[in-house]
Amino acid sequence: AKPIVAIVGRPNVGKSTLFNRIVGARVAIVEDMPGVTRDRLYQDAEWRGREFTLVDTGGLDFAEDVITSQIRKQAELAIKEADVVLFVVDAREGLTAVDEEVARSLRRADKPVLLVANKVEQFDKIPYYEFYQLGLGEPIPVSAAEGLNTGDLLDELVTLL
Ligand code: GDP
Ligand code: MG
Repeated sequence: AKPIVAIVGRPNVGKSTLFNRIVGARVAIVEDMPGVTRDRLYQDAEWRGREFTLVDTGGLDFAEDVITSQIRKQAELAIKEADVVLFVVDAREGLTAVDEEVARSLRRADKPVLLVANKVEQFDKIPYYEFYQLGLGEPIPVSAAEGLNTGDLLDELVTLL
């Protein structure tokens, strides 16, 4: 079977946009409203001859007060089945408590993680280094929307497969 790569992170950070960018098609629904990916979405993908199955995760009917536990549950399920995790954060919003919550689950899991700082269209203008304090290694700046640096991200990803 192909290795499984799960995209996790809080709502609206750009998980589905990154998913679409990597699979090369608009499969996942991108929405300004958080929590639109209702189920996990699987799609085969390939980079430099390495095949893998990409999983887009999303929340289920989030209410404000259950948002953290829902994301934790969703992330933990995805992490369990994944061989590698792409943990997406929003560099424009900065570090949030929910990011820290997801990071805690990821540090507990014994899985390779790439920390993806999304929405970095201009490297000099958007500081993404604060995410280093999540304890998951160096944040990799990308713009999923514009495809900036996503090739470098995929180069790093395939070294972990
Ligand atoms: P998800 O909830 O994590 O799946 O996030 P989506 O992929 O649905 O994106 C949420 C919002 O962020 C949408 O309005 C996207 O257009 C926007 N977005 C996604 N990626 C980027 C990016 O690289 N740069 C910017 N500026 N916006 C982005
Ligand atoms: Mg989504």
